Parts: sequence; structure tokens; C-alpha cells
Amino acid sequence: MVSRVCILGATGSIGASALDVIGRNRDEYSVDILTANTNFQKLFQLCKQHEPSIVAMACAESAEKLKSLLKENNMLQTTVLSGTEAINNVASTDNIDIVIAAIVGSAGLLPTLSGIKKNRKILLANKEALVMSGDLFMSVIEREGAILLPVDSEHNAIFQSLPQPTEFAKTNLKGVHQILLTGSGGPFLKEPLEALASKTPDEACAHPNWDMGRKISVDSATMMNKGLELIEACYLFNVAIEDVEIVIHPQSIVHSMVSYLDGSVIAQMGNPDMRTPIAHCLAWPKRIDAGVKPLDFYSIAKLEFQNPDYERYPCLRLAIEAVKIGDSAPCILNAANEIAVDAFLSDRIKFTEIAKVIETTLNKMEFEPLLNIEQIISTDKLARNIANAIVSELSL
Ligand code: NAD
Ligand code: MG
Repeated sequence: MVSRVCILGATGSIGASALDVIGRNRDEYSVDILTANTNFQKLFQLCKQHEPSIVAMACAESAEKLKSLLKENNMLQTTVLSGTEAINNVASTDNIDIVIAAIVGSAGLLPTLSGIKKNRKILLANKEALVMSGDLFMSVIEREGAILLPVDSEHNAIFQSLPQPTEFAKTNLKGVHQILLTGSGGPFLKEPLEALASKTPDEACAHPNWDMGRKISVDSATMMNKGLELIEACYLFNVAIEDVEIVIHPQSIVHSMVSYLDGSVIAQMGNPDMRTPIAHCLAWPKRIDAGVKPLDFYSIAKLEFQNPDYERYPCLRLAIEAVKIGDSAPCILNAANEIAVDAFLSDRIKFTEIAKVIETTLNKMEFEPLLNIEQIISTDKLARNIANAIVSELSL
């Protein structure tokens, strides 16, 4: 039976990797729903290649342009929806088997939640959604009886290295000593600390191993990405922060590891290519072709591991503090980070000011339990307002 797929954030880097894997396995998967923010030309190309039945665009003006293009090209089999409401609800459409959550940032929360339904596979790339709403997100998965599978390469590696789950993504932690979460250290691993303040957005986005969207690329340079991933790991695998150790591994070949009580360490390795974890999740528990080259150990030659340096990566320290505080702290951290990264990418603040914006926002807010979606959204909004005011002061 062919599985019907909905991709939230189809025009991004993860969207492209997912569509590439699906294109190699057309007998197994069909593309039914695609969404995007503004890039109507790219979405038009994807409509030509994949003939989805529905597409949704957050930007109404872009959706109109897409409609005209589809009409001019006699492609009226695709229905075009537009606006935030459409994006937020489109994944709830019946007859979908797999939802790939690949919108970047908090904009992905409501669209992803709406796609969580009984017996569906939810392939989670959008880590910000889980960081914002952790307990609530996991409880919706549980309540609806959906199958949550981690696309983030580290979490996918951990999932593959844990004792094999008997029931969907619910992991069996018996005999596990620790989770070893690896990260490359990003493009500035070896830069002198005093050079960091003058780093440009293009330099921060030039990741040595991975080709990704600009927000996650900056997060990798600050290592906030690893901080968000630490929070993600705690929720996904139901572990405490003490159970997870962050290890810098510049080559990005070992995607993460699990160490066991008997001294064994199981690692998942592969070339740094997101098509591997996407293919793993799409087909789980089977395996399919991802188009990824096999590892050539002779050309890699050397694998290195080191401790993270918190002076170089203050964002990582802030993320660890936020996990320890708990309650609304991860949601505030995530919102302030999104505002700070956006300000850095549009040249309003310096690279080293990203951590300042986040730390000041955390210092200005009260922490409280987040019990429902309204509280999560209002905390996110308040943190964004505060972070925006801090950015304005810094960029004067
Ligand atoms: P990207 O910037 O390349 O793509 C983002 C997608 O989200 C695009 O399709 C865009 O149209 C859509 N989008 C952005 N803002 C939107 C809005 N307001 N409303 C609706 N849609 C919107 O990002 P990416 O690199 O593909 O990353 C996507 C997610 O996956 C992020 O959460 C990232 O942390 C996570 N992730 C990415 C990678 C990677 O290798 N790229 C690896 C692990 C996890
Ligand atoms: Mg990752």
C-alpha cells in the first residue's frame, strides 16, 4: 500500500531532502500535501514534480501567484489554500499516513499539532515546536496514538542505538548508562574568541559539514542547536539532563551514541546527509534507499571527540540553565533565540549579542508551568516582545 505524505515546510532544506527520498521510492510513497511560507516559484516546481492534491501557503499574496501559475499551466488538480489558518490546519486532512514536520521555528507548532492523529507517523524535524511545548506535545502524541519518529540526525541516531523499541517510538531504556549527543561545534570551533564579534551571517551559515536553512545554521554556530537538541532529547526519550552528555565531534560522522551499563557504546554513523534519518523514519521499521553514498572510512581517516567550551558557546550554557529551571524557561529561551538569530541574520546585532539577547530575556521573565496551548503561545509572544525590545536597544 502506498503511504500518503504531507510535508509541512516543503520548500526548505529538509523538505528538499524528504522529496528526494520520496522520489526514489515512488512505489511506496505519494506526495499529497505540501506547504510553504512565501516561495511560490519553488512550490510551483514541486507541484509539477509531485502533483500534490493540496498545497497551502502562509502568505496569501504568494498563494494567489501560485494559483495563477497553476492555471496558466493547466494544473488545476492541485487545490491552493492560503493564510495562517490554512497552514495551521491542513495536516489534519483525512487519509494522510505520514506528516513531515519541517517548518522552521515556532511557526511550526500549531501546524504540527494539527497533524498528530491516530496511527499516523509524525516525522519531527521542527525541534522548536517540541522545545516550546514539550510535555503538551508528548501528551498529544500519546493521547492520539500517533507514532513519533525523530528526523533530527542526533535523535534519529539515538533512536537507532537504543534497545529496539517494541511499541513505536517509545524507547526501552533498560541497561542504558548515558546518551552521548554529538555536535560538530559549527564553523567557529577553532576561531579565536575575540574574532567572534565580527562574524557575518554568511560566515555563520557556512557550516563545515551540513547544508541547512539559515536559522539552524546560525544555531549550529552558537551551539544553541545542541542546547535545543538537549531539550528535545529529554522529551523524546524521557530522560533527565544528567543522562545526556554533549560531545564535540567535528567530523559529523558519528551522529550520536548510547552507552550501556556493561561498557558497550552503540553509535550510528553515516555521511552527514539528512536523507538518511528521513529515509529511516519514512520506512521504519524497514529500510529504503536514501541516495546517500556509503561511508568511506579510509577517506575519513580520523574521528575526533572533545568537551564543549562554554566560553565559546554561551548559548549552550543558557540552554542547559533553561532545562534545569524547567517550566516556561525552554519556551522563553527558544523565542528569544528566534528573535536574536533573525536580528543577527538581518545585520541588526552582532554574532556575540545573540547570547546577550537570550540571557537578558530570561532574566526579565518569570518562569511558570505551561499547562495548555494558550499559555505556551502567550509566553512565546511575551518573550518575543521582550527580546525585540532588547534587540532595538542593542542596535541603536
Ligand atoms: P528552511 O529555512 O530551509 O525551511 C523552512 C521551511 O519552513 C520552508 O519551507 C518555509 O517556507 C517554511 N516556513 C518558514 N516560516 C514559515 C511560516 N511562518 N509559516 C509557514 N511556513 C514557514 O529550514 P530547514 O533547514 O529545512 O529546517 C526546518 C526545521 O528542521 C527546523 O526546525 C530545523 O531546526 C529542523 N532541522 C533541520 C535540519 C537540516 O539539516 N536542515 C536538521 C535537523 C533539524
Ligand atoms: Mg541535529
